[in-house]
Amino acid sequence: MKLSFSAEDEIFRDEISSWLQENLCGEFEETRGRGGPGDEHMFVEERKAWERKLAEGGWTCIGWPVEHGGRGATVEQQVIFNEEYARAGGPGRMGHIGEGLTGPTLIAFGSEEQQQRFLPGIVSGTQLWCQGYSEPSAGSDLANVKTKARFDEHTGQWKITGQKVWTSLAHESEFCFVIARTDPESVGQKGLGFFLIEMDQPGVEVRPIQQLTGTSEFNEVFFDEAICGANDIVGEPGQGWKVAMGLLGFERGVSTLGQQMLFQNEFNEILRAAKANGSAQDPAIRQRIADAHVGLRIMRFNSMRMLSGGGEDGSLQKEAMIYKLYWATWHRNLGKLAMDVLGAESEILEDGPYQLNRLQSMYLFTRSDTIYGGTNQIQRNIIAERALGMPREPRG
Ligand SMILES: Cc1cc2nc3c(=O)[nH]c(=O)nc-3n(C[C@H](O)[C@H](O)[C@H](O)COP(=O)(O)OP(=O)(O)OC[C@H]3O[C@@H](n4cnc5c(N)ncnc54)[C@H](O)[C@@H]3O)c2cc1C
Repeated sequence: MKLSFSAEDEIFRDEISSWLQENLCGEFEETRGRGGPGDEHMFVEERKAWERKLAEGGWTCIGWPVEHGGRGATVEQQVIFNEEYARAGGPGRMGHIGEGLTGPTLIAFGSEEQQQRFLPGIVSGTQLWCQGYSEPSAGSDLANVKTKARFDEHTGQWKITGQKVWTSLAHESEFCFVIARTDPESVGQKGLGFFLIEMDQPGVEVRPIQQLTGTSEFNEVFFDEAICGANDIVGEPGQGWKVAMGLLGFERGVSTLGQQMLFQNEFNEILRAAKANGSAQDPAIRQRIADAHVGLRIMRFNSMRMLSGGGEDGSLQKEAMIYKLYWATWHRNLGKLAMDVLGAESEILEDGPYQLNRLQSMYLFTRSDTIYGGTNQIQRNIIAERALGMPREPRG
Protein backbone atom coordinates (compact mmCIF):
# COMPACT_ATOMS: atom_id res chain seq x y z
CA MET A 1 0.00 0.00 0.00
CA LYS A 2 1.25 3.47 -0.92
CA LEU A 3 1.14 6.02 1.87
CA SER A 4 2.63 9.02 0.13
CA PHE A 5 1.78 10.80 -3.08
CA SER A 6 3.89 11.27 -6.20
CA ALA A 7 4.82 14.65 -7.74
CA GLU A 8 2.21 13.97 -10.43
CA ASP A 9 -0.42 13.42 -7.74
CA GLU A 10 0.50 16.74 -6.13
CA ILE A 11 -0.09 18.50 -9.47
CA PHE A 12 -3.49 16.85 -9.52
CA ARG A 13 -4.06 18.18 -5.97
CA ASP A 14 -3.29 21.73 -7.11
CA GLU A 15 -5.67 21.36 -10.03
CA ILE A 16 -8.67 20.28 -7.95
CA SER A 17 -8.01 22.69 -5.10
CA SER A 18 -7.76 25.69 -7.47
CA TRP A 19 -10.92 24.61 -9.28
CA LEU A 20 -12.81 24.39 -5.99
CA GLN A 21 -11.50 27.76 -4.88
CA GLU A 22 -12.69 29.36 -8.11
CA ASN A 23 -16.07 27.65 -8.24
CA LEU A 24 -17.32 26.93 -4.72
CA CYS A 25 -18.34 30.54 -4.20
CA GLY A 26 -21.03 33.02 -5.26
CA GLU A 27 -24.34 31.15 -5.56
CA PHE A 28 -22.70 28.06 -3.98
CA GLU A 29 -21.18 29.83 -0.99
CA GLU A 30 -24.09 28.90 1.31
CA THR A 31 -23.76 25.18 0.48
CA ARG A 32 -20.29 24.99 2.03
CA GLY A 33 -20.20 22.22 4.62
CA ARG A 34 -23.93 21.53 4.24
CA GLY A 35 -25.91 18.46 3.17
CA GLY A 36 -24.11 15.89 5.31
CA PRO A 37 -25.76 13.15 7.40
CA GLY A 38 -28.89 14.52 9.06
CA ASP A 39 -28.58 17.65 6.92
CA GLU A 40 -29.62 16.16 3.55
CA HIS A 41 -32.73 18.33 3.31
CA MET A 42 -30.68 21.53 3.17
CA PHE A 43 -29.97 23.39 -0.08
CA VAL A 44 -31.25 20.53 -2.23
CA GLU A 45 -31.71 22.57 -5.42
CA GLU A 46 -28.41 24.38 -4.92
CA ARG A 47 -26.64 21.05 -4.38
CA LYS A 48 -28.23 19.65 -7.55
CA ALA A 49 -26.91 22.69 -9.41
CA TRP A 50 -23.53 22.06 -7.78
CA GLU A 51 -23.53 18.51 -9.22
CA ARG A 52 -23.93 20.02 -12.68
CA LYS A 53 -21.18 22.52 -11.96
CA LEU A 54 -18.84 19.73 -10.86
CA ALA A 55 -19.71 17.89 -14.07
CA GLU A 56 -18.91 20.92 -16.23
CA GLY A 57 -15.47 20.99 -14.64
CA GLY A 58 -15.05 17.24 -15.23
CA TRP A 59 -15.12 16.49 -11.49
CA THR A 60 -17.89 13.89 -11.32
CA CYS A 61 -17.20 10.14 -11.59
CA ILE A 62 -13.46 10.77 -11.66
CA GLY A 63 -12.62 7.13 -10.84
CA TRP A 64 -14.58 5.79 -13.81
CA PRO A 65 -12.70 4.79 -16.96
CA VAL A 66 -12.26 7.57 -19.53
CA GLU A 67 -14.36 5.71 -22.14
CA HIS A 68 -17.34 5.91 -19.78
CA GLY A 69 -16.98 9.62 -19.11
CA GLY A 70 -14.67 9.48 -16.09
CA ARG A 71 -11.06 10.58 -15.69
CA GLY A 72 -9.68 7.14 -14.96
CA ALA A 73 -8.28 8.67 -11.76
CA THR A 74 -6.07 6.40 -9.68
CA VAL A 75 -7.02 5.46 -6.12
CA GLU A 76 -4.49 7.98 -4.84
CA GLN A 77 -6.06 10.73 -6.97
CA GLN A 78 -9.51 9.83 -5.70
CA VAL A 79 -8.21 10.10 -2.13
CA ILE A 80 -6.72 13.51 -2.98
CA PHE A 81 -9.95 14.67 -4.63
CA ASN A 82 -11.92 13.82 -1.50
CA GLU A 83 -9.37 15.43 0.81
CA GLU A 84 -9.41 18.67 -1.15
CA TYR A 85 -13.19 18.58 -1.41
CA ALA A 86 -13.40 18.31 2.38
CA ARG A 87 -10.81 21.04 2.88
CA ALA A 88 -12.82 23.38 0.66
CA GLY A 89 -16.07 22.55 2.56
CA GLY A 90 -17.69 20.93 -0.50
CA PRO A 91 -21.38 20.15 0.14
CA GLY A 92 -22.80 16.63 0.59
CA ARG A 93 -23.05 15.06 -2.85
CA MET A 94 -26.53 14.46 -4.29
CA GLY A 95 -25.27 12.14 -7.03
CA HIS A 96 -23.34 9.70 -4.85
CA ILE A 97 -25.63 6.68 -5.40
CA GLY A 98 -25.40 6.95 -9.19
CA GLU A 99 -21.70 7.73 -9.17
CA GLY A 100 -20.68 5.25 -6.47
CA LEU A 101 -23.13 2.39 -7.04
CA THR A 102 -25.12 2.43 -10.29
CA GLY A 103 -22.26 3.49 -12.55
CA PRO A 104 -19.62 0.99 -11.37
CA THR A 105 -22.28 -1.77 -11.44
CA LEU A 106 -23.28 -0.97 -15.03
CA ILE A 107 -19.64 -0.73 -16.07
CA ALA A 108 -18.99 -4.19 -14.57
CA PHE A 109 -22.22 -6.01 -15.38
CA GLY A 110 -24.34 -3.83 -17.74
CA SER A 111 -24.81 -4.17 -21.49
CA GLU A 112 -23.25 -1.64 -23.85
CA GLU A 113 -26.70 -0.21 -24.51
CA GLN A 114 -27.35 0.25 -20.78
CA GLN A 115 -23.99 1.93 -20.36
CA GLN A 116 -24.70 4.33 -23.22
CA ARG A 117 -28.17 5.10 -21.96
CA PHE A 118 -27.58 5.58 -18.25
CA LEU A 119 -23.97 6.59 -17.64
CA PRO A 120 -24.02 10.04 -19.34
CA GLY A 121 -26.85 11.29 -17.06
CA ILE A 122 -24.80 10.31 -14.02
CA VAL A 123 -21.62 11.91 -15.34
CA SER A 124 -23.44 15.16 -16.19
CA GLY A 125 -25.01 15.28 -12.71
CA THR A 126 -28.51 15.53 -14.21
CA GLN A 127 -29.93 12.12 -13.28
CA LEU A 128 -30.02 10.99 -9.66
CA TRP A 129 -30.47 7.39 -8.53
CA CYS A 130 -31.80 5.56 -5.49
CA GLN A 131 -31.36 2.03 -4.21
CA GLY A 132 -34.41 -0.26 -4.06
CA TYR A 133 -33.14 -3.21 -2.04
CA SER A 134 -34.83 -3.28 1.40
CA GLU A 135 -38.43 -4.34 1.91
CA PRO A 136 -40.58 -4.64 5.04
CA SER A 137 -39.52 -8.30 5.41
CA ALA A 138 -36.16 -8.11 3.67
CA GLY A 139 -33.47 -6.04 5.41
CA SER A 140 -30.62 -8.02 6.92
CA ASP A 141 -32.14 -11.01 5.17
CA LEU A 142 -32.07 -9.32 1.77
CA ALA A 143 -32.62 -12.56 -0.14
CA ASN A 144 -36.16 -12.59 1.24
CA VAL A 145 -37.36 -9.90 -1.22
CA LYS A 146 -40.96 -10.35 -2.32
CA THR A 147 -41.28 -7.66 -5.02
CA LYS A 148 -42.17 -9.41 -8.26
CA ALA A 149 -41.15 -8.78 -11.85
CA ARG A 150 -43.38 -10.27 -14.53
CA PHE A 151 -42.49 -10.13 -18.21
CA ASP A 152 -45.54 -9.02 -20.19
CA GLU A 153 -45.40 -10.78 -23.57
CA HIS A 154 -47.97 -8.37 -25.07
CA THR A 155 -46.14 -5.14 -24.31
CA GLY A 156 -42.64 -6.61 -24.31
CA GLN A 157 -41.94 -4.94 -20.96
CA TRP A 158 -41.35 -5.96 -17.36
CA LYS A 159 -44.09 -5.12 -14.85
CA ILE A 160 -42.83 -4.60 -11.30
CA THR A 161 -45.13 -4.95 -8.28
CA GLY A 162 -44.20 -4.75 -4.61
CA GLN A 163 -42.97 -2.46 -1.86
CA LYS A 164 -39.55 -1.13 -1.00
CA VAL A 165 -38.78 0.73 2.20
CA TRP A 166 -36.08 3.04 3.63
CA THR A 167 -35.26 4.15 0.07
CA SER A 168 -32.91 7.10 0.53
CA LEU A 169 -33.47 10.11 -1.75
CA ALA A 170 -36.24 8.30 -3.72
CA HIS A 171 -38.16 11.59 -3.65
CA GLU A 172 -35.31 13.35 -5.47
CA SER A 173 -34.31 10.58 -7.88
CA GLU A 174 -34.99 10.05 -11.56
CA PHE A 175 -34.15 6.31 -11.42
CA CYS A 176 -34.11 3.43 -8.97
CA PHE A 177 -32.30 0.11 -9.20
CA VAL A 178 -34.53 -2.61 -7.83
CA ILE A 179 -34.08 -6.25 -6.90
CA ALA A 180 -37.22 -8.21 -7.72
CA ARG A 181 -38.23 -11.82 -8.15
CA THR A 182 -38.40 -12.89 -11.82
CA ASP A 183 -39.41 -16.43 -10.82
CA PRO A 184 -42.46 -16.19 -8.54
CA GLU A 185 -41.89 -19.71 -7.19
CA SER A 186 -38.28 -19.06 -6.21
CA VAL A 187 -36.94 -18.44 -2.72
CA GLY A 188 -33.69 -16.96 -1.39
CA GLN A 189 -30.90 -15.86 -3.70
CA LYS A 190 -32.22 -17.70 -6.77
CA GLY A 191 -34.79 -16.33 -9.20
CA LEU A 192 -34.00 -12.62 -8.75
CA GLY A 193 -33.48 -9.85 -11.30
CA PHE A 194 -31.75 -6.45 -11.09
CA PHE A 195 -33.90 -3.75 -12.72
CA LEU A 196 -33.34 -0.13 -13.75
CA ILE A 197 -36.63 1.70 -13.23
CA GLU A 198 -37.74 5.20 -14.11
CA MET A 199 -39.37 6.86 -11.09
CA ASP A 200 -41.61 9.33 -12.91
CA GLN A 201 -44.42 7.01 -13.98
CA PRO A 202 -47.94 6.17 -12.73
CA GLY A 203 -46.91 2.77 -11.32
CA VAL A 204 -44.46 4.30 -8.81
CA GLU A 205 -45.53 6.03 -5.62
CA VAL A 206 -43.06 7.56 -3.18
CA ARG A 207 -44.12 8.27 0.40
CA PRO A 208 -41.55 10.06 2.59
CA ILE A 209 -40.95 8.66 6.08
CA GLN A 210 -40.39 11.19 8.83
CA GLN A 211 -37.20 10.44 10.72
CA LEU A 212 -35.95 11.15 14.25
CA THR A 213 -34.39 14.34 12.89
CA GLY A 214 -37.86 15.57 11.83
CA THR A 215 -36.81 15.44 8.19
CA SER A 216 -37.32 12.79 5.50
CA GLU A 217 -34.18 11.44 3.90
CA PHE A 218 -35.77 8.10 3.10
CA ASN A 219 -39.10 6.82 1.82
CA GLU A 220 -41.47 3.97 1.21
CA VAL A 221 -41.70 3.20 -2.51
CA PHE A 222 -44.69 1.33 -3.90
CA PHE A 223 -44.54 -0.33 -7.32
CA ASP A 224 -47.89 -1.21 -8.86
CA GLU A 225 -47.27 -2.76 -12.28
CA ALA A 226 -44.48 -0.22 -12.76
CA ILE A 227 -43.03 -0.47 -16.24
CA CYS A 228 -39.44 -1.41 -16.94
CA GLY A 229 -38.11 -1.86 -20.48
CA ALA A 230 -37.14 -5.36 -21.68
CA ASN A 231 -33.54 -4.19 -21.95
CA ASP A 232 -33.44 -2.57 -18.53
CA ILE A 233 -32.61 -5.69 -16.57
CA VAL A 234 -28.90 -6.00 -15.70
CA GLY A 235 -27.68 -9.55 -16.35
CA GLU A 236 -30.06 -12.41 -17.02
CA PRO A 237 -33.37 -12.99 -15.20
CA GLY A 238 -32.50 -15.13 -12.19
CA GLN A 239 -28.95 -13.69 -11.92
CA GLY A 240 -29.90 -10.58 -9.94
CA TRP A 241 -28.23 -11.71 -6.72
CA LYS A 242 -24.79 -11.76 -8.33
CA VAL A 243 -25.24 -8.20 -9.62
CA ALA A 244 -26.74 -7.03 -6.30
CA MET A 245 -23.77 -8.39 -4.36
CA GLY A 246 -21.26 -6.94 -6.84
CA LEU A 247 -22.88 -3.55 -6.19
CA LEU A 248 -22.48 -3.97 -2.43
CA GLY A 249 -18.77 -4.44 -3.08
CA PHE A 250 -18.74 -0.96 -4.64
CA GLU A 251 -20.73 0.37 -1.67
CA ARG A 252 -17.87 -0.66 0.58
CA GLY A 253 -15.32 0.65 -1.92
CA VAL A 254 -14.51 4.02 -3.43
CA SER A 255 -17.69 5.72 -2.25
CA THR A 256 -16.40 5.43 1.32
CA LEU A 257 -13.85 8.12 0.51
CA GLY A 258 -16.60 10.61 -0.23
CA GLN A 259 -18.17 9.81 3.09
CA GLN A 260 -14.93 10.45 4.96
CA MET A 261 -14.86 13.99 3.68
CA LEU A 262 -18.17 14.65 5.44
CA PHE A 263 -16.83 13.10 8.63
CA GLN A 264 -13.82 15.40 8.46
CA ASN A 265 -16.11 18.44 8.17
CA GLU A 266 -18.13 17.31 11.16
CA PHE A 267 -15.01 16.62 13.18
CA ASN A 268 -13.73 20.13 12.38
CA GLU A 269 -17.03 21.63 13.52
CA ILE A 270 -16.91 19.73 16.82
CA LEU A 271 -13.31 20.79 17.36
CA ARG A 272 -14.25 24.44 16.75
CA ALA A 273 -17.14 24.16 19.20
CA ALA A 274 -14.90 22.53 21.84
CA LYS A 275 -12.33 25.31 21.52
CA ALA A 276 -14.99 28.01 21.58
CA ASN A 277 -16.89 26.82 24.66
CA GLY A 278 -13.84 25.68 26.62
CA SER A 279 -14.75 21.98 26.74
CA ALA A 280 -11.47 21.26 24.92
CA GLN A 281 -9.80 21.98 28.29
CA ASP A 282 -11.51 18.94 29.81
CA PRO A 283 -8.98 16.06 29.72
CA ALA A 284 -11.66 13.42 29.04
CA ILE A 285 -13.06 15.41 26.10
CA ARG A 286 -9.56 16.11 24.79
CA GLN A 287 -8.85 12.38 24.82
CA ARG A 288 -12.05 11.59 22.91
CA ILE A 289 -11.29 14.29 20.33
CA ALA A 290 -7.82 12.79 19.86
CA ASP A 291 -9.34 9.31 19.53
CA ALA A 292 -11.79 10.58 16.92
CA HIS A 293 -8.92 12.12 14.96
CA VAL A 294 -6.98 8.85 15.12
CA GLY A 295 -10.08 6.98 13.91
CA LEU A 296 -10.36 9.30 10.90
CA ARG A 297 -6.74 8.59 9.93
CA ILE A 298 -7.25 4.84 10.36
CA MET A 299 -10.28 4.97 8.06
CA ARG A 300 -8.33 6.85 5.43
CA PHE A 301 -5.44 4.41 5.42
CA ASN A 302 -7.75 1.43 5.54
CA SER A 303 -9.60 2.80 2.51
CA MET A 304 -6.34 3.18 0.63
CA ARG A 305 -5.36 -0.35 1.61
CA MET A 306 -8.64 -1.87 0.54
CA LEU A 307 -8.81 0.10 -2.69
CA SER A 308 -5.28 -0.93 -3.62
CA GLY A 309 -6.43 -4.49 -4.36
CA GLY A 310 -9.56 -6.49 -5.21
CA GLY A 311 -11.11 -7.76 -8.42
CA GLU A 312 -12.61 -5.94 -11.39
CA ASP A 313 -16.06 -7.35 -10.68
CA GLY A 314 -16.25 -5.23 -7.54
CA SER A 315 -14.94 -7.87 -5.17
CA LEU A 316 -12.74 -6.47 -2.42
CA GLN A 317 -9.96 -7.79 -0.25
CA LYS A 318 -10.87 -9.35 3.08
CA GLU A 319 -9.63 -6.22 4.89
CA ALA A 320 -12.56 -4.32 3.39
CA MET A 321 -14.94 -6.32 5.53
CA ILE A 322 -14.00 -4.47 8.73
CA TYR A 323 -14.72 -1.09 7.23
CA LYS A 324 -18.49 -0.68 7.71
CA LEU A 325 -18.40 -1.87 11.32
CA TYR A 326 -15.47 0.48 12.00
CA TRP A 327 -16.86 3.67 10.47
CA ALA A 328 -20.42 3.18 11.73
CA THR A 329 -19.26 2.68 15.32
CA TRP A 330 -16.77 5.55 15.01
CA HIS A 331 -19.42 7.91 13.63
CA ARG A 332 -22.01 6.98 16.25
CA ASN A 333 -19.41 7.79 18.90
CA LEU A 334 -18.65 11.09 17.15
CA GLY A 335 -22.33 12.00 17.52
CA LYS A 336 -22.11 11.34 21.27
CA LEU A 337 -18.91 13.37 21.47
CA ALA A 338 -20.63 16.29 19.72
CA MET A 339 -23.38 16.31 22.35
CA ASP A 340 -20.89 16.10 25.22
CA VAL A 341 -18.87 18.96 23.75
CA LEU A 342 -22.01 21.12 23.58
CA GLY A 343 -22.96 20.11 27.13
CA ALA A 344 -26.25 21.56 28.37
CA GLU A 345 -26.58 23.52 25.11
CA SER A 346 -27.10 20.21 23.27
CA GLU A 347 -30.55 19.97 24.86
CA ILE A 348 -31.79 23.38 23.66
CA LEU A 349 -33.78 23.60 20.44
CA GLU A 350 -33.37 26.50 18.05
CA ASP A 351 -36.14 28.55 16.49
CA GLY A 352 -36.98 27.82 12.88
CA PRO A 353 -38.45 25.11 10.70
CA TYR A 354 -36.18 22.25 11.73
CA GLN A 355 -35.30 23.43 15.24
CA LEU A 356 -32.30 21.13 15.54
CA ASN A 357 -28.88 22.63 14.97
CA ARG A 358 -26.33 20.89 12.72
CA LEU A 359 -24.67 18.87 15.47
CA GLN A 360 -27.96 17.85 17.05
CA SER A 361 -29.29 16.44 13.77
CA MET A 362 -25.91 14.83 13.12
CA TYR A 363 -26.10 13.12 16.51
CA LEU A 364 -29.62 11.83 15.88
CA PHE A 365 -28.76 10.66 12.36
CA THR A 366 -25.70 8.76 13.55
CA ARG A 367 -28.03 6.44 15.46
CA SER A 368 -28.91 4.93 12.06
CA ASP A 369 -25.30 4.38 10.97
CA THR A 370 -25.07 1.02 12.67
CA ILE A 371 -28.25 -0.09 10.83
CA TYR A 372 -28.13 0.92 7.16
CA GLY A 373 -25.79 -0.72 4.67
CA GLY A 374 -25.80 -3.84 6.92
CA THR A 375 -26.20 -3.65 10.70
CA ASN A 376 -23.26 -4.04 13.12
CA GLN A 377 -24.46 -7.57 13.95
CA ILE A 378 -24.54 -8.52 10.28
CA GLN A 379 -21.09 -6.99 9.76
CA ARG A 380 -19.74 -9.17 12.58
CA ASN A 381 -21.24 -12.22 10.90
CA ILE A 382 -19.61 -11.24 7.60
CA ILE A 383 -16.21 -10.79 9.25
CA ALA A 384 -16.51 -14.05 11.18
CA GLU A 385 -17.71 -16.19 8.30
CA ARG A 386 -16.13 -14.69 5.19
CA ALA A 387 -12.93 -13.09 6.45
CA LEU A 388 -12.00 -15.37 9.35
CA GLY A 389 -13.53 -18.58 7.99
CA MET A 390 -15.40 -19.36 11.22
CA PRO A 391 -18.41 -21.71 11.12
CA ARG A 392 -21.60 -20.24 9.64
CA GLU A 393 -24.26 -19.19 12.12
CA PRO A 394 -27.26 -21.56 12.11
CA ARG A 395 -29.77 -20.35 9.50
CA GLY A 396 -33.50 -20.63 10.16
C1 LIG B 1 -30.90 5.97 7.22
C2 LIG B 1 -31.17 4.72 6.44
C3 LIG B 1 -31.11 4.75 5.07
C4 LIG B 1 -31.37 3.59 4.33
N1 LIG B 1 -31.35 3.67 2.96
C5 LIG B 1 -31.67 2.57 2.23
C6 LIG B 1 -31.74 2.65 0.80
O1 LIG B 1 -31.48 3.71 0.20
N2 LIG B 1 -32.09 1.56 0.11
C7 LIG B 1 -32.37 0.36 0.74
O2 LIG B 1 -32.65 -0.62 0.03
N3 LIG B 1 -32.33 0.25 2.10
C8 LIG B 1 -31.99 1.33 2.86
N4 LIG B 1 -31.98 1.24 4.24
C9 LIG B 1 -32.37 -0.02 4.88
C10 LIG B 1 -31.24 -0.79 5.55
O3 LIG B 1 -30.43 -1.42 4.59
C11 LIG B 1 -31.87 -1.80 6.53
O4 LIG B 1 -32.46 -1.06 7.56
C12 LIG B 1 -30.84 -2.76 7.10
O5 LIG B 1 -30.39 -3.66 6.13
C13 LIG B 1 -31.43 -3.58 8.29
O6 LIG B 1 -32.61 -4.20 7.93
P1 LIG B 1 -33.94 -4.03 8.78
O7 LIG B 1 -34.14 -2.57 9.05
O8 LIG B 1 -35.03 -4.77 8.07
O9 LIG B 1 -33.64 -4.72 10.18
P2 LIG B 1 -33.68 -6.28 10.49
O10 LIG B 1 -32.99 -7.02 9.43
O11 LIG B 1 -35.09 -6.66 10.78
O12 LIG B 1 -32.81 -6.34 11.83
C14 LIG B 1 -33.35 -6.06 13.13
C15 LIG B 1 -32.26 -6.36 14.16
O13 LIG B 1 -31.94 -7.77 14.14
C16 LIG B 1 -30.55 -7.95 13.97
N5 LIG B 1 -30.31 -9.14 13.14
C17 LIG B 1 -30.94 -9.49 11.98
N6 LIG B 1 -30.44 -10.63 11.49
C18 LIG B 1 -29.45 -11.01 12.33
C19 LIG B 1 -28.54 -12.11 12.35
N7 LIG B 1 -28.54 -13.03 11.39
N8 LIG B 1 -27.64 -12.18 13.37
C20 LIG B 1 -27.62 -11.24 14.37
N9 LIG B 1 -28.47 -10.19 14.40
C21 LIG B 1 -29.36 -10.06 13.39
C22 LIG B 1 -30.08 -6.70 13.25
O14 LIG B 1 -28.69 -6.47 13.46
C23 LIG B 1 -30.95 -5.63 13.90
O15 LIG B 1 -30.39 -5.22 15.11
C24 LIG B 1 -31.71 2.39 5.00
C25 LIG B 1 -31.76 2.36 6.39
C26 LIG B 1 -31.50 3.51 7.12
C27 LIG B 1 -31.58 3.42 8.62
